[in-house]
Amino acid sequence: MKRRKFISISGIAITSSVLPVMTARTFSDLVTGSRAKTDLPPAPLKPTWINTESLRLAWCHLSPQHASADPEAVFDRLVKADFNCIMNTAVDEGAYYPSNIPFNEACTALPEGGDLYGGMAKLAKQNNMRTGARFDFTHLSKEALEAHPEWFIRHKDGSTVTDSVGRAKPCLNSNFYPTQGVSIITEVLEKYEPDIVYINWFLNFGGHEKICYCESCKSDFQEKYGRPLPDEPDAEFVEFIEEAADNTSRKIANAIYKKRPGTLYINADEDDTSHGHHLETHAGDWIYSSSEQINRQRTSYPDRVGIDQWFSYSGDPSEFDSNLVEEMKVRYYQFGAHGSPVAFCTQGTLLNPSHQVELEEAARLNAWYKENSDLFGLQLNRSRVLLLCRPETSPRSNHTNKGIYALMTELHIPVAVSENPDSLKNASQDYDLVIVMPGALMDGIQEYVEKGGRALFIDQPPPFGIPSNLELEDKPAHITRDVGNGQISYLGQWDISEYYMGEAPTADIEMFSDIMESLLGNDRQIITDAPPRVEMVLMYQPDQQRSLLHLINCSGKTQAGFRKPEIFKEINIDLAGEFSSARARVSKSDLDISKRNGRFTLSLPVLNGYEVIVLS
Ligand SMILES: [Zn+2]
Repeated sequence: MKRRKFISISGIAITSSVLPVMTARTFSDLVTGSRAKTDLPPAPLKPTWINTESLRLAWCHLSPQHASADPEAVFDRLVKADFNCIMNTAVDEGAYYPSNIPFNEACTALPEGGDLYGGMAKLAKQNNMRTGARFDFTHLSKEALEAHPEWFIRHKDGSTVTDSVGRAKPCLNSNFYPTQGVSIITEVLEKYEPDIVYINWFLNFGGHEKICYCESCKSDFQEKYGRPLPDEPDAEFVEFIEEAADNTSRKIANAIYKKRPGTLYINADEDDTSHGHHLETHAGDWIYSSSEQINRQRTSYPDRVGIDQWFSYSGDPSEFDSNLVEEMKVRYYQFGAHGSPVAFCTQGTLLNPSHQVELEEAARLNAWYKENSDLFGLQLNRSRVLLLCRPETSPRSNHTNKGIYALMTELHIPVAVSENPDSLKNASQDYDLVIVMPGALMDGIQEYVEKGGRALFIDQPPPFGIPSNLELEDKPAHITRDVGNGQISYLGQWDISEYYMGEAPTADIEMFSDIMESLLGNDRQIITDAPPRVEMVLMYQPDQQRSLLHLINCSGKTQAGFRKPEIFKEINIDLAGEFSSARARVSKSDLDISKRNGRFTLSLPVLNGYEVIVLS
């Protein structure tokens, strides 16, 4: 990688050319065209119970052959591992329960009179556990296709979208979801009363790169735009299909709330009409993938659900080895630290002996989380740096955010990541600095700065305060200007996205660190000699009126996977704020503290995999 040097420019003369502020509306227009809302999204519960209860969630992704499993045997595994919330598949390539609805055929492996989903749901209820039902309607039977050809996605030549055994996928704009889909979900709600309804794979093609030419799509588009569907997606098509997705998802949501108010509805692909998004991390992914996604979800949408599904796609449970267990521990720590349920995802029933190692580890982890459940109720991110980034739909991972997130994390600068400036606009948080990444929504930023705030724009010039026609050399510049009572900085041109691989040149990291130092001064929330791969997460528990400093040892991450982390000794931490005590919960020890100049210092004798320091 080419080593680059920053130059600092000050005292730049302002010219008349100033870019317009890019608002949420103009951004939305650029991406999708203007979006007319026909209705308000369902009123969110604030905050949802999933963000206030200390949950240990097991998520079993079943294949049709698993339908023959004995519910009691599967449930026994989950109870032994001490989970208190289980998500199970109700429908995916067939129903995992006996259904009375035509074309909702049971999986062929489901025994006569058998009820895998219902049996486990009943046992969970008897044991005061939360339950969830997962639905994937993308593999419907040939009988359904013959009886209801109007339900299905069609290519332009009239052919359907089918899987390898000829099961077909319905169109989100057809009457499948509002009629058949809602009937099936309602049946499960009536029979089993799940707390969560999760819908997988809702969008027709995963995104909007292709067009469905079913009769509903053809006639609805013609009626709305006065022309036939185009050959390739254009702005009007994207607007059309997004509005259709919103409307259909809202119908599902309303049916669910009507039947069982308080149910959490998570549509993996829908932002505005459900309580959550689909977050996903695969085994071996970027070390901060779970952290960044949950941080962003919880900050951007504090009243919604943020569960990261971390699992291996190996398809072969025998590949679940000790390396995977080391990664599982780190992901667990990250889930809990960033304020989501600790969650365990598996591809099978857990009855295979090869799952024993990971279940034993989950049981050890769950026992600790159960004993320390007071730490994992409602937690709020109390970082004083806000990272504003481009909004993402499905999938939720944000590649362009990785570089800046890794740098901030490894410099131990706590950061809250958001896809919207809501917390700035409603002044729910007091930030020392707002970092604006390319593509971020900027409503209210100028006002925030003029009132005395500080903003750093990376790799895109600010739309105010700094001339847009700067002639920059072919190297990153750092420019600072006063605007109103505040200050803006510009750092660019600098593609920071590639730095997540841990390949940033030392000189660049030092320069970025210097810029942070100049912008944050000596008031940094954390000053520490901890190694970069010790992730520190600073959270606040409003109910308990105390702060938590989570330390996650990520040093076990290697190019190929995970090994046991290094053990770190004597980590010194200097924190901004007034506290009177510090207790390390994992090592069960009170830490010596000293105070000076409004700051608070402590020393952690040893860090193995994880620690959480309670500051009160
Ligand atoms: Zn269609």
